[in-house]
Amino acid sequence: MKLKLFIAALCVLTSFRSTAQTSKKRKPNFIVIYTDDLGYGDLGTFGNPVIKTPNLDRMAYEGQKWTNFYVAANVCTPSRAALMTGKLPVRIGMESYKRRVLFPDSKGGLPESELTIAEILKANNYQTALVGKWHLGHLKQFAPNNNGFDYYFGIPYSNDMDRKGGMTREDMFTPNFQDFNVPLMRNSEIIERPANQNKITQRYTEESVDFIKRNKEKPFFLYLAHSMPHVPLFAGKDFKGKSIRGLYGDIIEELDWSVGKVLETLRELHLDENTYVIFTSDNGPWKLFNEQGGSSGLLFGAKGTSYEGGMRVPFIVWSPTNIKPRVEMKMGSTLDILPTLCSIANIDIPSQVKTDGYDLSPLMVQNKDVNPRNEMFFYHATDLFAARLGDYKLYYLKNNPIGYPEKIEKLEKPVLFNLSVDPSEQYDIYGKNEKIVNEINELVRKHKEGVIPVKSNLEDL
Ligand code: MG
Repeated sequence: MKLKLFIAALCVLTSFRSTAQTSKKRKPNFIVIYTDDLGYGDLGTFGNPVIKTPNLDRMAYEGQKWTNFYVAANVCTPSRAALMTGKLPVRIGMESYKRRVLFPDSKGGLPESELTIAEILKANNYQTALVGKWHLGHLKQFAPNNNGFDYYFGIPYSNDMDRKGGMTREDMFTPNFQDFNVPLMRNSEIIERPANQNKITQRYTEESVDFIKRNKEKPFFLYLAHSMPHVPLFAGKDFKGKSIRGLYGDIIEELDWSVGKVLETLRELHLDENTYVIFTSDNGPWKLFNEQGGSSGLLFGAKGTSYEGGMRVPFIVWSPTNIKPRVEMKMGSTLDILPTLCSIANIDIPSQVKTDGYDLSPLMVQNKDVNPRNEMFFYHATDLFAARLGDYKLYYLKNNPIGYPEKIEKLEKPVLFNLSVDPSEQYDIYGKNEKIVNEINELVRKHKEGVIPVKSNLEDL
């Protein structure tokens, strides 16, 4: 009798284990939450003293907070091109001095020959959605549905575009959504124009929650690209006037609420075990708009610059059963997201795709003491402004630290900072570190040899 009971118990245990193994074998889900112009210093968990972000603080506490994480460009379009392809935008014609981003009259977009992360995942039976801002070409051939996304709900370019004639910078501080004729799309259809931006964060959140619920049985990739906090700022009615930081704080607190809704949905559906959620931003804060722009915290510079404040962004990755909580100070970049997610999902990247990214999973998931990324190249349009190797960043060109208007100058003598001891880039140590300067110069020389100039897709009209 005892033996039968023992065998029965063993069978139950075995069946539990095989269920667990089956669910483990299912490809993991991925959610990338990409905010627009949110700065390094805008979240509680990254040191903001007044903006309340309890959901992001909890996400960082339960997950990993990366403090040396970079985007590949300092404005929207090229930054998004890099996230989608894992390539430096300069390689694929997604950078330009003439036009830093795509506009409603642009005829170009992300080249059709480029493979996106959504296309790779879709080819591996993922359900894919973009909810939010695209900004990689609004003509049909460049649209999200032609770039690997089964479902699209959002705006095709920035929320300040298609605006009423004669608007001044001052008008942007008290915006009315009717003055911005931005279309809201569902797949290839315009469902509302102008998009009611007062409700946009709420609607993106509802669409995201619906997508997760619809796909709870299948592996999915959700790219939730919020159009906030890009100026003009629009807060939902439940958030407007609530933050002591003012309208900008209202917006961030609403984005935090949205993150909370997404994570709560995953927990309710028991998808938290097999889902990786990333939260980050496309570039630094838009300081041109004073208190309606964000903060780069202790970092120097802003959106539109290659300084740390323009390109180092908050990065949180969460997957409670797969990721060990910690603060990670090693380098990472949005260029690495494509190779890292493919590696986690055990998907081979097609051999013709040569990315500039590194697989961060040995460090992020397997907790190995490795440094997958040890260098970063800081482009502004088609020029390499600076390069980082280890702790050291060497600048060849400089710009107005606010980013606008651009004031670009070649430095007569490069400047060098040690970002570990001087993250605010205040103390030039160029004269004292010949060895590291030579190493960075050599790194840059080799890098430039491998970058072949291509025609820009941002200049087509
Ligand atoms: Mg942006």
